Amino acid sequence: MKKAFLILLVLVMVLTAASTGMAGKKEEEYCKENGHTPVVDPAVDPTCTETGLTQGSHCSVCKAVLEKQEVLPALDHLFIAWYPNGRGTHLMICKRKCGYQDVQYCWMMPLPQADPEAAAVSFCPICGTCIGAENMTMVKGLKIVSGAPKGSLRVFSLQLAGAKYMTVAFEYSGKLVQPAGEVVFTLPDELKNASFVRVDGEGTELLLESAEEPGTLKLNFAPEGEGPLQVLVLKEI
Ligand SMILES: [Zn+2]
Ligand SMILES: [Zn+2]
Ligand SMILES: [Zn+2]
Repeated sequence: MKKAFLILLVLVMVLTAASTGMAGKKEEEYCKENGHTPVVDPAVDPTCTETGLTQGSHCSVCKAVLEKQEVLPALDHLFIAWYPNGRGTHLMICKRKCGYQDVQYCWMMPLPQADPEAAAVSFCPICGTCIGAENMTMVKGLKIVSGAPKGSLRVFSLQLAGAKYMTVAFEYSGKLVQPAGEVVFTLPDELKNASFVRVDGEGTELLLESAEEPGTLKLNFAPEGEGPLQVLVLKEI
């Protein structure tokens, strides 16, 4: 019984294929004489996770593709806003409003301070979470002029024991990344006249090489692959 049904099914499929094939020929003849009847295949915008398509067209009679739709790659999530969660983790919300969220452990590291005897403070250079001090404040408005690595700039400020610190790091997909060599920034208006030294946590304060333009900051990161990932800690003077 089952076998008979299968044979019947195959027979129906073969007949259908044959009949559409024959119909296709007839329609192709029609289009040869009268021209195609174009129908637009609308473009599909890519999303964070799904590919998109460019606009194309096909013939509604013979189904021939007249203008092929090209596949547009998926955009990937845009991780720009990271929020401290208060439990040693930070929350990421995709900037493209796709609804995607991710929670990751903070990248805690010791904050090098001007006074090496000062009480230890550790911080996450991605979300600004601090242990041993209040969470840092995000500094907005720094723009990269040259030397930008892949990833986004994360800058925070922290007032601690009379000193004002600024941390500079780069983040890509929630992970710290290493910029290579020299990066030049323009400072936001409120910091246009500020001067900085680089703090290494051993009581040494390195005066920063001044950039050519006033209101800009030139930072030197170690070449890629050399030494640990760098997060620069600056102190305003
Ligand atoms: Zn056609
Ligand atoms: Zn997304
Ligand atoms: Zn964090």
